[in-house]
Amino acid sequence: MANTCKTKTTCPYCGVGCGIEATVKDNRLIAVTGDASHPANLGKLCVKGTALNETMGEHGRLLAPQIEGVEVNWPTAIKTVAAKLNAIRNQHGPAAIGFYLSGQLLTEDYYVANKLAKGFIGTGNVDTNSRLCMSSAVAGYKRAFGSDAVPCNYEDIDHCDLLIITGSNAAWTHPVLYQRMVAAKNNNPNMKVVVIDPRRTASCDIADLHLSLAPGSDSYLFNGLLNYLSVNKKIDRDYINAHTEGFDEAISATDELNVETVARNSQLNIDDLSTFYKWYADTEKTITFYSMGINQSATGTDKCNAIINCHLATGRIGKLGAGPFSITGQPNAMGGREVGGLANMLAAHMDYSVENVDLVSQFWQSDNVSQQPGLKAIDLFDAVASGEIKAIWIMGTNPVVSMPNADKVKVALENCDTVIVSDCIEHTDTTATANILLPATGWGEKSGTVTNSERCISRQRTLLTAPGTAKDDWWIISQVAQQMGFVEAFSYQSVREVFNEHAALSGYHNNGNRLFNISALSDLTDDDYENFEPQQWPLAESRNKTRLFADGIFNTDSGKGQFVSTVAQLPKQESSSQYPFILNTGRMRDQWHTMTRTARAARLLDHTEQPFAALNTASAKKYNIEQNDLISVSSEYGKIDVIARIDDNMATSELFIPIHWNQQYASNGRVDSLVAPIADAISGQPEFKATPVLLEKITVPRWASIVSHKKIDCSQFIYWSCSHLADNQGYLFQAAVDELFSWQDFIATSSNDSLAYEHFANPTKLDERFICYTEKNLELAIYSHSEQQQLPQRNWLQSLFQKSLLGTSYWSMLTGDEYSQKNSGRNICSCFKVSEEKIINAIYNGADSLPQLGIELKCGTNCGSCIPELNQLIARCSLNGKLLNWA
Ligand code: SF4
Repeated sequence: MANTCKTKTTCPYCGVGCGIEATVKDNRLIAVTGDASHPANLGKLCVKGTALNETMGEHGRLLAPQIEGVEVNWPTAIKTVAAKLNAIRNQHGPAAIGFYLSGQLLTEDYYVANKLAKGFIGTGNVDTNSRLCMSSAVAGYKRAFGSDAVPCNYEDIDHCDLLIITGSNAAWTHPVLYQRMVAAKNNNPNMKVVVIDPRRTASCDIADLHLSLAPGSDSYLFNGLLNYLSVNKKIDRDYINAHTEGFDEAISATDELNVETVARNSQLNIDDLSTFYKWYADTEKTITFYSMGINQSATGTDKCNAIINCHLATGRIGKLGAGPFSITGQPNAMGGREVGGLANMLAAHMDYSVENVDLVSQFWQSDNVSQQPGLKAIDLFDAVASGEIKAIWIMGTNPVVSMPNADKVKVALENCDTVIVSDCIEHTDTTATANILLPATGWGEKSGTVTNSERCISRQRTLLTAPGTAKDDWWIISQVAQQMGFVEAFSYQSVREVFNEHAALSGYHNNGNRLFNISALSDLTDDDYENFEPQQWPLAESRNKTRLFADGIFNTDSGKGQFVSTVAQLPKQESSSQYPFILNTGRMRDQWHTMTRTARAARLLDHTEQPFAALNTASAKKYNIEQNDLISVSSEYGKIDVIARIDDNMATSELFIPIHWNQQYASNGRVDSLVAPIADAISGQPEFKATPVLLEKITVPRWASIVSHKKIDCSQFIYWSCSHLADNQGYLFQAAVDELFSWQDFIATSSNDSLAYEHFANPTKLDERFICYTEKNLELAIYSHSEQQQLPQRNWLQSLFQKSLLGTSYWSMLTGDEYSQKNSGRNICSCFKVSEEKIINAIYNGADSLPQLGIELKCGTNCGSCIPELNQLIARCSLNGKLLNWA
C-alpha cells in the first residue's frame, strides 16, 4: 500500500531560508509547497523551491567512495583519508592541511568539520565559500557592533517607509523576500523604494528611484550621504552621544563629499542623488538592504561600514522598520558564521584571542587547537598552488567554478598531493580534480539545522533514503576523526548530539560577552530535536527579546556602536584600451550556484538555457555583435565563450555574465576564470563585480541543436551548452560547429549501437537534419543550419523523446509542421512554461495587465518570480513595441 507522508523542512538554496512542506510517497518526493507556518516565507516559495522535487533521484549522484577513480568501501575510504591526513600532519605540520567548507553544509556538519580541523588537527586553514558571499558584511558588523550580528528581522520590511536595495537584485536572488517587499509597498502607499545598481534589474520593478551608479562607486554614495546628513542637521545627536563612538573622525573623512563630488564620482544625476539623500534624511523608518554588490569588492568592508555609519548617525538601528540589513546568499552562510567556519574565526562567534583559544581548548578538551587565524580562500588556494598545503578537503562546494582566477585554482588542485572532495554529485568541475571522492547525502536525505539571514534556526529533515552508500557529512568527518585517533571527541551517535554540543559551546563561559548564545538549546532530546520549530536568536530564554540593539547597547568593549572612518574609493581595476569593458557577475532567477542541483530540473533552464553576456545596443553595435551571436570575453586571467544578449538595461561598456555555467554544462563558460584574485584587505572577499575585459565576436559557420539520450562527445564543436530533458530522458545540446563538420562521422562515433538515420539536407544553407534510431528507439536528433534562428524551438526539441511523438513519423520530425514552428523565445514563466512570444501576443491581443495575463496564460500567478519581467513586457509593448530582456 502506498505510504504518503508530509514533512516540514527548509529550502536548500538562498539565505531567505523558506520553510517547506514536502510530500513523500514510497520514498519519492512528489510535491513541495511552502510552509505557511514558517516565519521566513509564510507559505510562499519561489520557482527554485517549487522545483525541488524535479532535482531528486539517483541519476548523476556519487554513490560510493572512490580512490583515484576506483570504487572502495567506506572503511577503506575512511582509513585512507585518516592515514593521509595523519601522515601529512606528522611530516609537514598541521598547516599543510586545508579545509574548504560551504554554506550548503548543515550547521552540524560545519561544526564537526571546524572542530576536527581547528580543534584537533590544529590547522587554522579552514575557510568556506561564504568568504565569497558575505565576509565583508561580517567584518563590517564586527567593526561597528563588536559582533557578527545582523540587526534586522524580515518583519522590518513590512514596517519600513524607505527601502534602499543596494548591490542586490533581490527579485531574482531572494525572490520570496522580494515578494514581501512588493506586498509591503502595496500595503503602504507612502513607502518608497530606491534601487542602487549599475544595471536596471528586475528589482527596479518596484523602484520609485533607480540610481544607476558607476560600478563600485557605492562608498562615494554612502560617505556622501553621511556628509549630507551632517551638513543638513539630519543626524540624531542624542543617539550619537549616548550610544556611539567615532562620529567626528568618520564625518571628517567625508568632508569633501558634497553632492556634486559624489555625483561626479558615481556618475549620477545630481537631482536623483539629491532626491535619494532627502528621502533618507526625512524618513525615520529606513532599511538599507544589501548583498553581494556591496560585499564583493576590494573595499567591501568599508562600504558596509559606510552604510552602517549612516544608520548609526540617524539612530536608525534596533528599531522596528529600520536598520542596515545584510542578506546572505547561501542557505546556511549564517550557520557557518555561527560555528566559526571562516578562517579568521575560531568557533561559536569567537575570534582568535588567547582567552578564546583557552576557552575552546577547555571545551573541546584538546591541546591541539590552532593558535592563529588561517588562510582566507584566495590565499588558501594559493598555498595549494605553491605546495605549502599538501592536502585539502573540500566539502559541498565547487571552487574550480566559483573562485576568482578559477583556472589557477583548477591547476592547483590538479597538482595537489591529496584532494579529498565530499559531494553528492559525481561529476563536477571540482570532483574531476579529486584523488578521493566521498559520497555525501544531499538535501532531503540529510538531517540537521540551518540559519537564515534573520538569524532564524530551522530544521532540514530527512525525507528520503539516501542512494547508494552516501553518508551524512558529520558522520564522514567523525569517522575520519576517530580513525585519526580522536575517538572520544567525535563519538557522536546522532546529529542531535552534535547540535547540543554546538549550542553548549555558544554559552560556555559566555557571561554575556557573545551575542550568539543558544545554550538554552543544549539539552534537546531526540523528540525535541525532531519537533524543533524555527527559532530566532537571541533566544527568548537568554535575552528576553529578539530585536538586537534596541537598547542602544552594542557588543563592543565600551558598549557603544562604532563609527568607522572610511575613505571613498573606486574599484581597484579600471577599463583600458586593452580591456574596454567592466564585467559584472551575478545570479540568474532560476539557477543556483554551479547548477549541480538546479540544472537537473529541465524547466529551470527554460528561462535561460545558455551562458550569456548582457551588453547594451551601443556596445553591441560597436563590435558588430547581434543578438545570440557567439562571443569570447577575455581578461588578464582567462577567456570564455558565451552567447551575446542585447540588453538596454546595461550601461555602455559594461557586461553582465551569470556565475552558474561550468564545464559540465558548457564548453567554456566559467566566468570566474576571468575574475582577478583581488580581495578586500580586511574581509578577504574577492572583487567579483568589476573586472576589465575585452570582447570579440566569434564567427559561427553552423549552429546546431542536438537531442540525445546520452551525453555526446562535444570535443570537436566550436561551442556547446547542455541542458537536461525532463524525467532524465536525455540531454539537449546547443552547439556551434565548423562549416565542414561531418555529422555522418559524428553519428558513426556517437553510439555503441549502430544507428540508422533519416537525413534531410539543403546544402545552400548548410541545413542538415538527422533522426537517428535503433530498431526500437529514437536515439539522437540533429538539426544544423547556418542561421541560428532557423533551428527548431526548444519546447519542441525537449518533447522529441516523449510518448506523444511516438506516432509521428521520423521523416515528419525532419520536415513536418512542428519542425518548422517558429522559435517562441525563452519561457518567462517557469511555473506554467509560458514563453515570451505567447505573452507578447496576449498583450497585443488586449491582456495588457498582470491580472489579465494571469487569467489568459496563468503566468505570474504562482511564485511571482516572473512578475518583473511580465511588467517589463507590458510596459515595452505599450510604449513602442521594442522588447528587451532582463539580464
Ligand atoms: Fe528557496 Fe526561493 Fe525561498 Fe530562496 S526564496 S529559500 S530559493 S524558495
